[in-house]
Amino acid sequence: MRPKTFRGGIHPQYGKEMTCHLGIETLPAPEQVVLPMAQHAGAPAEPLVKAGDTVDLGQKIGEAKGFVSVPVHASISGKVLSVGPVSLPNGNVSVAVTIENDGEDRVFPELKAPGDYRQLTPERLRELMREAGLAGMGGASFPTHVKYNPPEGKRIDTVVLNGAECEPFLTCDHRLMVEDAEKVVTGLKALMRAGGAEKGIIAVEVNKADAIKALEKAIAGDPQLSVAPLATKYPQGEEKMIIRAALGRIVPSGGLPIDVGVVVNNVATAAAFADYLATGMPLISRVVTVTGRGVKQPKNLLVRLGTPIQKLLEACGGFAEEPGKVIVGGPMTGPAVYHLDFPVVKGTSGILVQSRAEVAGGESMACIRCGRCVKVCPYSLLPNFLAEFAEQGNLDQAEAYGIMDCRECGCCTFVCPSRRPLMQLIRNAKGKILARRRKSG
Ligand code: SF4
Ligand code: SF4
Repeated sequence: MRPKTFRGGIHPQYGKEMTCHLGIETLPAPEQVVLPMAQHAGAPAEPLVKAGDTVDLGQKIGEAKGFVSVPVHASISGKVLSVGPVSLPNGNVSVAVTIENDGEDRVFPELKAPGDYRQLTPERLRELMREAGLAGMGGASFPTHVKYNPPEGKRIDTVVLNGAECEPFLTCDHRLMVEDAEKVVTGLKALMRAGGAEKGIIAVEVNKADAIKALEKAIAGDPQLSVAPLATKYPQGEEKMIIRAALGRIVPSGGLPIDVGVVVNNVATAAAFADYLATGMPLISRVVTVTGRGVKQPKNLLVRLGTPIQKLLEACGGFAEEPGKVIVGGPMTGPAVYHLDFPVVKGTSGILVQSRAEVAGGESMACIRCGRCVKVCPYSLLPNFLAEFAEQGNLDQAEAYGIMDCRECGCCTFVCPSRRPLMQLIRNAKGKILARRRKSG
């Protein structure tokens, strides 16, 4: 049977062979962590501590503010050095709590394992997702509990776990599925119970045959669960694409997965939920792929949140040569960073170091109307026109051509022979449209 997929998309150089076979190594906790209060989409958490306070491992140090928000927890025990602004790789500024490690890893005494999900009510499970600080670990970092509280009149029938990991070079989810398949499956079952879903699907690209095998073994013939093998294609892991491929359902323009009865979570989010239920330890660490031709020894590392990316690079032997670009996340969607003090946060899936030769490009030129960008856009948009409208400042026309449906996958930029910065232009225009909407109320 042909693996399932969607229309459009691209086949970039995947580069996953550098790390897909490497087991997850645990990076020792650093001397200091920096924990931003805005590690998730929605309202930043509000700090609960001040400089001079002593905190324990897993202690809540930032309280969720509002419904679309999650708490932040201490990833080491030690002394709070400061509470103040830091810049984030996406260009935003967030208040962050900086903690100096006392080396004791003293666990917060009030942490208690919630226990077997089957003994907990769906309502309690939804509360626990929030208490665990769960926000999507695939990169978007949307608070998990919000997805499990659908609006009036909508219901969840299927939970899809996203194990596609379609971004080139990243293998953190792949390794997690291979090494911790049972935990992923337990997390899926707990999520299904929380949402009242009858069906759970783990969607994985076929280039991860060992992960598919491990997951199939872990679901052990459970009739409610299945593994959906998907074609290896970018952006297969994008929410709407994965739903279309795994279930054949189409999320309407401007709509959400819940409009077709589905919630999509990353496999790492499911595993973190299973961990929390079993141990009571909230989300304080994650697996990060450190890779690329510019790094000496690429690795998959389990790291404490708040660890500076410099520490991860040191653990991988440092730069192989003077780097061309350091990207937080994958090459298609991750932002390039210009210093190495940025901390690992809940959505940090990778650190990619590209060599100078890889980033050497040429000047952007005029559109030659080749149509390649149109052919690859998974949303059937006209990226060439959208970018033109963006350059002209013609926001009305851009909106009329569906610019807000762009999911910023970067396929159009990737294939453009004129090296037009299509996604960047579109992203900027979207930002202006959103600002205009906010202004007009
Ligand atoms: S227009 Fe948006 S959704 Fe379409 S290919 Fe470009 S970045 Fe992706
Ligand atoms: S791929 Fe580039 S050159 Fe070709 S139509 Fe799109 S914007 Fe124009």
